[in-house]
Amino acid sequence: MTPIEEPRRLRVATVSLAGCFGCHMSLLDIDERLFPLAERMVFDRSPFTDIKALGPCDVGLVEGGLCNSENVQVLRLFRARCKVLVAVGACAINGGLPAQRNALDIGQILVEVYRNRPGLAADSSMPSDPELPLPLAQVHALHEVVHVDHYLPGCPPSADAIYALLSALIEGRTPHADPAEIRFD
Ligand code: SF4
Repeated sequence: MTPIEEPRRLRVATVSLAGCFGCHMSLLDIDERLFPLAERMVFDRSPFTDIKALGPCDVGLVEGGLCNSENVQVLRLFRARCKVLVAVGACAINGGLPAQRNALDIGQILVEVYRNRPGLAADSSMPSDPELPLPLAQVHALHEVVHVDHYLPGCPPSADAIYALLSALIEGRTPHADPAEIRFD
């Protein structure tokens, strides 16, 4: 008897760079529709899994912009290992609220936070462990560093918008956002 072939499931990786995890929470807001989705897709490296090595994947969903050297490294890895890369949310698309620091000097910000802030211990010093990623002078959007295939605006994008995007990709269609679902706040 010929075994029944299961449809191939879309392999999806997700990551939060300089994000707040709010876009991931909005993905979870898909609620009970996650069950039928889970039959057609599987998560690779993601805050939802314990997978450490990335891909190869069909889709990479990237939340957050780029605020430090590790963000850039991880983004390049996602671009290399994911066929389709999606910038999810305002931070990934244009830097978002974290990019408000672009009007300030990063050195001055660090001094204010780690040396001058009231309430710090007297021996407080600037974190300098080489394990820590160096901050970038400015926060950047993803498209400034890699090619982005799709953009999902919103802070965060609605669960319906994320569901529509994943459904389209699962069905091999080009995602087209419903104008009613497009928002930037
Ligand atoms: S777009 Fe909004 S919800 Fe998403 S990571 Fe940025 S601040 Fe958080």
